[in-house]
Amino acid sequence: MAYKIPMAELTENASADQHHIPAKVKDMAAIDQPTQLVENWQEKGIAKFAELLDKYRGLRVFMDTCVRCGACKDACHYFIGTGDPNNMPVARAELLRKVYRRYFTLPGKLLGDKADAADFDEEMLAKWKTYFYQCSECRRCSVFCPYGIDTAEITMAAREIMAEIGVGTKYVTEVVAKVYETGNNLGIPGPAWKNNCEFFEDDVADAHGEKVEYPVDRVGAEVLLVPPSADNFANDKTMEAYGLIFKALGVSWTTSTYADEGGNFGLFFNYKNMKKVNQRMVQAARDLKVKILMWGECGHAWRGGIYTNTLSGPMDFLDPNYQYPIHLFQWLLEDNAKRLKALKVDKSINDDRSITYHDPCNPARAGQLIEEPRVLMNYCCNRFHEMPRNTIKEYTFCCGSGGGLLTDEIMPLRYAGGKPRADACMYVHKKHQVEFMATPCAICKAGLPVMLSYHKVPVEVTGVIDNLVRAMI
Ligand code: SF4
Ligand code: SF4
Repeated sequence: MAYKIPMAELTENASADQHHIPAKVKDMAAIDQPTQLVENWQEKGIAKFAELLDKYRGLRVFMDTCVRCGACKDACHYFIGTGDPNNMPVARAELLRKVYRRYFTLPGKLLGDKADAADFDEEMLAKWKTYFYQCSECRRCSVFCPYGIDTAEITMAAREIMAEIGVGTKYVTEVVAKVYETGNNLGIPGPAWKNNCEFFEDDVADAHGEKVEYPVDRVGAEVLLVPPSADNFANDKTMEAYGLIFKALGVSWTTSTYADEGGNFGLFFNYKNMKKVNQRMVQAARDLKVKILMWGECGHAWRGGIYTNTLSGPMDFLDPNYQYPIHLFQWLLEDNAKRLKALKVDKSINDDRSITYHDPCNPARAGQLIEEPRVLMNYCCNRFHEMPRNTIKEYTFCCGSGGGLLTDEIMPLRYAGGKPRADACMYVHKKHQVEFMATPCAICKAGLPVMLSYHKVPVEVTGVIDNLVRAMI
């Protein structure tokens, strides 16, 4: 049943563009984009669109192929949550398709709106700003489309065109700007990052009675971990777990103050910035002379990470076995899970928690990480329970805050978009008394607690490896 949030609530704290919060001039400048709507923006936008159509054959196919069957209609959590017909994936995509038809097809050029085409004008731009920033690029709709049309790619193209003409959204652009200034999404300066790592050493020594290192900028370590920066400042159990796992396995590791962030908000904005953010991680790995560049618990970080060889490769300076992106979970499970088995886990230690797993959209639908986290969860928890099958694995629902929407300025939209996930979680809470939810994503870890609390679902959010380490003897 649609959980309808009145549009008045959606626009609360927002500009006239229905919750699109314009980027700050300084942030647009910092990320090398026009700082305001450029002159001849229609012309320049259409030229960029033409460039994208040439570059990405898939985009042209997505523009031409939709038969409007409606199979994707109720796949989108923002449509389910808001009831706004413009949030149906097919309707969202039509905002780009109408412009495509107008400028790139003969019927559209000759017949205009009679051929379902529309000018790229101010009214259309206002709709783009609103509805392409009410999409979390989660790809759920693509799973239901008989043609595999991926509205996330369509959203990315629209955001790319808007970036070109000087239209950005505040949250996404300020995060990318912070990465260039400090190395991470939260804007934590290097000395503060180091201090926090020292605090972790003290805390873990107090809790576990042994010295565990959280090294920073260590040249020659075996592994450079690029965790989400939120793990260092908010998800302390996950950060503790990285150190405990590497220590237990006798593997030297480090983080980098140049790239202390696996997250890549360029993915939510444009290709140029996605590439620049990604290049920082590879540069850090090169400078620190590590053998393995490894991604930690963050969903969109991993989605950006898997393209590393295309964006910033070749990674031929790494160990020959690791010249491709690798996630911590994959590494733990390599060679018949030899590293996982070496961790000496007693899963009965976690018998005091009934727990479920939330697939972040990006690992599940864009990062091929579906079974690995389940192996880990089953390895360390006896009371592990899945949410309903139409809401897990490739059918997972977004937390409501992905795709660059994790900002307090649009809470009503996030509450609405998170409702399908909250419902699934409530189901498993009632059926199996689940009180914990594990998820390997910093955005989900930040977005889900407030969303679950809003929908009165009494479930606490944790990382995956938090539970693994909790069960280590
Ligand atoms: S399911 Fe695919 S073909 Fe059908 S309306 Fe949606 S995008 Fe178009
Ligand atoms: S990618 Fe996700 S958020 Fe965007 S339209 Fe599809 S289902 Fe909705």
